[in-house]
Amino acid sequence: GPPEARRSYLNVPSILATCDLTGADAIHPGYGFLSENAEFADIVEAHGLVFIGPKPKHIRAMGNKANARRIALDGALECVPGTEGAVEDLTKARAEARRIGYPVLIKASAGGGGRGMKLVANEEELEARLLVARAEAASAFGDSAVYLEKFLERPRHIEVQILADSQGRVLHLGERDCTLQRRHQKVLEECPSPVIDAAVREQVGAAAVAAAGMIGYLGAGTIEFLYEHGRFYFIEMNTRVQVEHPITEEVYGVDIVREQIRIAAGERLEFRQEDLQPQGHAIECRINAEDPVTFVPSPGRIDQYHAPGGPGVRIDSAVYQGYTVPPFYDSLIAKLIVRGQDRKESLSRLDRALEETVIAGIRTTVPLFQDLVRWEPFLRGEIDNRSLESWLLNRSGAS
Ligand code: ADP
Repeated sequence: GPPEARRSYLNVPSILATCDLTGADAIHPGYGFLSENAEFADIVEAHGLVFIGPKPKHIRAMGNKANARRIALDGALECVPGTEGAVEDLTKARAEARRIGYPVLIKASAGGGGRGMKLVANEEELEARLLVARAEAASAFGDSAVYLEKFLERPRHIEVQILADSQGRVLHLGERDCTLQRRHQKVLEECPSPVIDAAVREQVGAAAVAAAGMIGYLGAGTIEFLYEHGRFYFIEMNTRVQVEHPITEEVYGVDIVREQIRIAAGERLEFRQEDLQPQGHAIECRINAEDPVTFVPSPGRIDQYHAPGGPGVRIDSAVYQGYTVPPFYDSLIAKLIVRGQDRKESLSRLDRALEETVIAGIRTTVPLFQDLVRWEPFLRGEIDNRSLESWLLNRSGAS
């Protein structure tokens, strides 16, 4: 359909009609908006089709982030210090922020994609930021509810991949480190994390498995944590496969989408926790159709396209030479995934693969990654979730 969301990729009647015409009996919702839309999952089930994902009740429970915090607390995962549920008014927000201690972050309960967060440094700023946060949440997510969290100054983003089948087996596939972020959005991810050892992996993996088990979770999911001073703080759960899932596939040798489909078909997971050992190291770069310095979107025709290849190189993409990147959607056009025996080898493969990549006619973030593979703090693994932004600021200030 035409580029309006409701008439094209969110056009539910046309998706259902397609199943009817083709005889499809199940729908994989990808990782876009439909994958975390409980109403869509309900409609799919009501039409006698299988929604490849968790049950609508899981999507609902975790889709509201303030609610997810409550569930995580019940499941004994430590949350970032913050409010129990949403804060309704300024008086309550003031009292809660004092209890938590400034700086605090105002977050939209229905938020996602790194949007809907406001940093509040002190009490003087609280009232104005709260008003803006609520108004923005209402217009962006159709829900003005917000909650407060302590703002952690230098955390890393560590997330645990889990798989759960309908026979009650819940397993984890280790962690992904998504600390390199811009505007709270992931830019580059790696597996395993350079700062997590086997013992810590087992500990956080077991906690994530227990939490998923407690809610009777089904399918693939990710439990996201901030990691600071050796402690994990739950921030949210994504009830779908994620953009960065390929690095886990590469390191664990498991096709996560295949497992999602098998689980939805009622089959059991064929491996046990002890079979799942990380082998090597993988990195994913999100190649966006954006200017690599200003990050302004750069839609248009791809005049030349050459994808890198060779051992340990994987490209997940749908673009090709002659393809026109439309201006209407997310700017992610390709995921470059590299795998090596260790982090050093995957970094060197990444360097080579980026050099081989040709995408001409539009601007892309490839040059950004070419700079990143030479950036010392990243190479040493000594970064937090704000390091990339500081580096970008200095870089543009210097040029
Ligand atoms: P979204 O659902 O929009 O992706 P998240 O809650 O997952 O939002 O947070 C996205 C990113 O924002 C995190 O990876 C982290 O870098 C940053 N962030 C979130 N909460 C906090 C916090 N309490 N303190 C510091 N940074 C945070």
